Amino acid sequence: MSKSTKTFQTEVQQLLDLVIHSLYTKKEIYLRELISNASDAMDRLKFEGLTNDKLLEGDSELFIKLTPDKDTHSIVIEDNGIGMSAEELDTNLGTIANSGTKGFLKSLQEAKEQGVEDNQFIGQFGVGFYAAFMIAERVEVETRRAGETQGYKWESAGDGQYSVEDVDKESRGTKITLYLPEDGKYDEYLEEWRIKNIVKQYSDYITYPIKMDVTKTDYPQAAEGEDAPEPVTTIEEETLNSMKPIWRRSKSELTADDYNEFYKRISFDYTDPLEVIHYVAEGVTEFRSILFIPGMAPMDMFSREQKNGLQLYVKNIFITDECSELLPEYMRFIKGVVDSSDLPLNVSREMLQDDAIIRRIRKSLVNKVLSTLKDLKNKDADKYLKFWEHFGKVIKEGIHLDMENREKLNELVLFPSSKTELEKPVSLKEYVERMPEGQEEIYYISGESYEAVKASPHLEALNSKGYEVLFFIDPIDEWVAQSLTEYDGKKLKAIDRGDLDLDSEDEKKEKEEKLKGAEEEYKGLLETIQKDLDATVKEVRLSSRLTESAVCLVADEHGMNANMERIMKAMGQEFQPSKRILEVNPEHPVLSKMRELSTAGDVEKVKDYSSLLLNQALLAEGSPIQDPNKFSKLISELMVQA
Ligand code: ADP
Repeated sequence: MSKSTKTFQTEVQQLLDLVIHSLYTKKEIYLRELISNASDAMDRLKFEGLTNDKLLEGDSELFIKLTPDKDTHSIVIEDNGIGMSAEELDTNLGTIANSGTKGFLKSLQEAKEQGVEDNQFIGQFGVGFYAAFMIAERVEVETRRAGETQGYKWESAGDGQYSVEDVDKESRGTKITLYLPEDGKYDEYLEEWRIKNIVKQYSDYITYPIKMDVTKTDYPQAAEGEDAPEPVTTIEEETLNSMKPIWRRSKSELTADDYNEFYKRISFDYTDPLEVIHYVAEGVTEFRSILFIPGMAPMDMFSREQKNGLQLYVKNIFITDECSELLPEYMRFIKGVVDSSDLPLNVSREMLQDDAIIRRIRKSLVNKVLSTLKDLKNKDADKYLKFWEHFGKVIKEGIHLDMENREKLNELVLFPSSKTELEKPVSLKEYVERMPEGQEEIYYISGESYEAVKASPHLEALNSKGYEVLFFIDPIDEWVAQSLTEYDGKKLKAIDRGDLDLDSEDEKKEKEEKLKGAEEEYKGLLETIQKDLDATVKEVRLSSRLTESAVCLVADEHGMNANMERIMKAMGQEFQPSKRILEVNPEHPVLSKMRELSTAGDVEKVKDYSSLLLNQALLAEGSPIQDPNKFSKLISELMVQA
């Protein structure tokens, strides 16, 4: 192939400009990125080599070699991994098809939305290959794919274009040369001690040796009475990293920085994780794992394309980046790595899907995550609340989907309530602990927002009794309600459904007496209203849940309430709205007024009032009203009369 010059995809150039012009960043991370790519390339060689041993011909030891050269202001990073074909070279280093760069741009966008300066954070996480341009004026990549004979050279000065041409390369792998500025402004990155430090700090856990020729100076002892001999300098190849992956090291050896650094590398997140779970399982199922609960939810947590799953290693060998079988879907926000010593090395994707060992690992990871969250909730309420803000929704998904762990999940769930502020949700345990005497059930109301349910007429009787009501204001709470039917032996009861049985026996008797009287009195009126509203309302009855408002609508014990209807509509679902019950408050003056009108035979007026009553109830629960035109006309008339 003769030399051909091409233009970078626009996004790549944007990224390059950013990388080049961000002056105040940790430029040293360029090395971490290139080493990590080299290490991935060797993982892939090993992996593909499992099924095609031809690829492994040539060097048997896999390693990375760093060669700084102060004279030419350059540094070479070389590996004998999988290498790239001409095609791969073109797509990998010219477009933005790869995960790392995409992750970067996404995080960049998120950070910008949060007002973080590019400069502050660019250096904190993966920019991939392009990080080379942080210090290099020109980058040259020579590569040969394992199994092929022809090599290729890629070259660019980061100025919009790159070129690709044939090159003779003796063995497989990739050799990247960074040419730093001639004026020596980045020559510190060529100092041996500096390189050693960078490798130790960022790449110590890389499982392949990272080698460098290191200059050693010996100062021989002078013999008695003689001048000291000249110092002797020798050059020796040294391995700079300990090669122990982070999950194989003991917790006591590791610092918070080690974990955070590792997390950022695997997650493309630029903030520290909220919680780290370093878990080594011994016994029947043996594996090592490090799991991270991120500090914030990714934008795409609810998108179908969201990548999920943990990295899976088998006996230190990389198998896959996204093993989604290791955790249930609702734990998709967790990042991390699992290294199993029980799985066979040639485990395939199909095998992973139904493997007894994977199932056992999964079970044990789920338990570990749930117990960690429980501890967090008990020991650090503020941190847990932060977790809940970001991941509460997916935990609720779990309540609906993970029957086996429902009880544990029930302990984790929080809801705002009639006795708390929106930002200070309560757990079911707290709720039950502060239930006043006489309260038997756990009450909840579902609706569109905190403000909407807080003002709901359904709360009146419960408020006056001092009973707390949980607010189910997340759309998913309707599904939670279907699964979370009981806690600590107490039933969960929707206060806008069926009958509300709030009273003690004595109170009941008293009320019954009262209602009985009222029922007689209002029988005729209730029938008239029922007739007027027959098309929409199933029944009109006197209410025991209202103390101030005149009306409210309630669903049957198993009927669909207003919130569920709203959600179904929003989801574009076909459904048959069920007729609900209109409850009226006999103590409200509107009712006695209506009764007077009814007795006086003013049929038309009663009809108008009935429709006003219904619309009031709809408005109070945040539902659309019926015939808004007529409604406003009636209101105007009433205002004029007043
Ligand atoms: P990422 O590594 O996150 O995918 P990069 O921009 O760092 O993004 O690299 C792009 C792609 O180029 C990699 O996915 C890989 O396929 C290829 N690549 C980079 N460096 C090497 C290397 N040393 N050997 C083989 N392939 C490489």
